[in-house]
Amino acid sequence: MKAARSIIPLALVAAIAGGLTWWYVQKTDSPPASGPGIPIDQPLGDHPALSSLASPPDWSELDPWQSTISRENFVDQLESVFTVTSSWRDWFHIGEKDVLIETGVDDERYRLRFAEKSLTQTPSRSWRTASELDPATAERPLEDVHIAIDPGHIGGRWAKIEERWFQVGEDPPVQEGDMTLLVAKLLRPRLEALGADVSLVRDQLEPVTDYRPESLMDAAREIQPDSPQQLAERLFYRTAEIRARAEKVNDELKPDLVLCLHFNAEGWGNPEDPTLVDRHHFHLLVNGAYTDGEIALADQRHHAVRKIVEGIHDEEVALAGAIASRFANDTRLPPYLYEINSKRALNIDSNPYIWARNLLANRLYQCPVVFLEPYVMNSTLDYPRIQAGDYKGTRKVAGKDQPSIFREYADSVAAGLAEYYRAARPIE
Ligand SMILES: [Zn+2]
Repeated sequence: MKAARSIIPLALVAAIAGGLTWWYVQKTDSPPASGPGIPIDQPLGDHPALSSLASPPDWSELDPWQSTISRENFVDQLESVFTVTSSWRDWFHIGEKDVLIETGVDDERYRLRFAEKSLTQTPSRSWRTASELDPATAERPLEDVHIAIDPGHIGGRWAKIEERWFQVGEDPPVQEGDMTLLVAKLLRPRLEALGADVSLVRDQLEPVTDYRPESLMDAAREIQPDSPQQLAERLFYRTAEIRARAEKVNDELKPDLVLCLHFNAEGWGNPEDPTLVDRHHFHLLVNGAYTDGEIALADQRHHAVRKIVEGIHDEEVALAGAIASRFANDTRLPPYLYEINSKRALNIDSNPYIWARNLLANRLYQCPVVFLEPYVMNSTLDYPRIQAGDYKGTRKVAGKDQPSIFREYADSVAAGLAEYYRAARPIE
C-alpha cells in the first residue's frame, strides 16, 4: 500500500464494496463465543468480485507451476483443506489433464495443467521446507531459517480503535497489540540463539500501513453513507494494515515462515466493564476453509490455488503440529474447539489444537504461516498473569508459582520450532 494517504483510486471503492460482506466475516479473529451475528458472506451485486482493497489477480503468476502438481493432490487439497462445501465446482472445472479456473473476468478461464503422477516436480517458491535446508547442528537447529514474527494488531494509542482494549477497574488496561509485541521481542533472541534469522513485521506500537482512518473515509462513505466512521476505522486497522504487512512479508522479507502472534479472548462486552470468564484455551490456525462466498471472490480463489501449488499446507501443518504439542505440554491449555459442522473452520489431522481458517494474514502471506491463538485475555486464569507483567523465573500469581505468561509463550514457541527442525532437517 504505497499509495498516498489521501488518494483512494475509484477501483478501490468498488473493490471495497465487493469484499464488504467478506470483511464482516473476518472482523474478529477470536472465536465469537457470544459475539454479534455474522452476516452471510456472499459477494454483492454486479461489481468485480474481489475482497476489500484487493487488486484483480494476475493469473499468469501461476505459470511457473504448470505441470508441477498431480490432479489427485490438487483436488484433494482443494476439497479437504481449502473449501468447506462442493460449491468450489462452480469456479474450478476439473478435467483429466488440467483444471480450468474462472478468473472472475467475464467468461475467462485460466488453464492449469496437472503433472503426470510420476513426474511431479518440486514447485518453485520463495521459501524452503525444513527438509530442503542444509544440515545444521542439534544446538542450532534453526541455522539459516528466516522467520518473520508478526505481532498481531497495532496496540498503543490504536488499541481502542482496533477493539483490542479492555480495562478492569483501575488496573492497567489490557491491549493485545502491546502484548504480542512484548512476546515478539522475547521470542526474537530465543530464535536467534537457535540459529534463525529473525525479522519483525512490526516493531513498534504503530501501523505498518500509510493509510489512516481519515484517508479511508471517502471509501467508507461510498459503502455506508450513514455511519462511515467505524467502517473507515476497520478498513484501516484490519484490511489496509494487514495488506501493508503482506506487502512487506512477500516483497521485502521473503521468509521461510511467518509466526502470527495473538492472544485469544472471549466476548468481553463493555470494554470498560468487561466480563471475565473462568475458562481458557489454545489453538493454532493454518490457511484453509474458504467459505462459499470467499472462494467466489477472484483474488481469494487465486490465493488458494497459489497455496495449493506451492505445497504450503503440508509444511504449515507440520510446523503447527510441533508448536502445538510443545505448547500444550508446557501450558496445559485445553484446545479450543470450533463447532462441529462449522462452515468457517476445519479441523486438521484430527489434532484438536489445529484448525484451518481463512484469515486475511494467513491468506496473503505467501509462505507457511502459523497463526497462534493461545490464552484467553479476559479469563480469570490468564488475566492475573497478564497483570503480573513480564518477569524472570517464577512468581506467585493467583496463588501459584508461575512463569511470566509472555515468557512461557515465547519459550514454548521457540522450543516447538527447535524440536521441529531437529526432526525435519538434516542434522550433522
Ligand atoms: Zn488477535
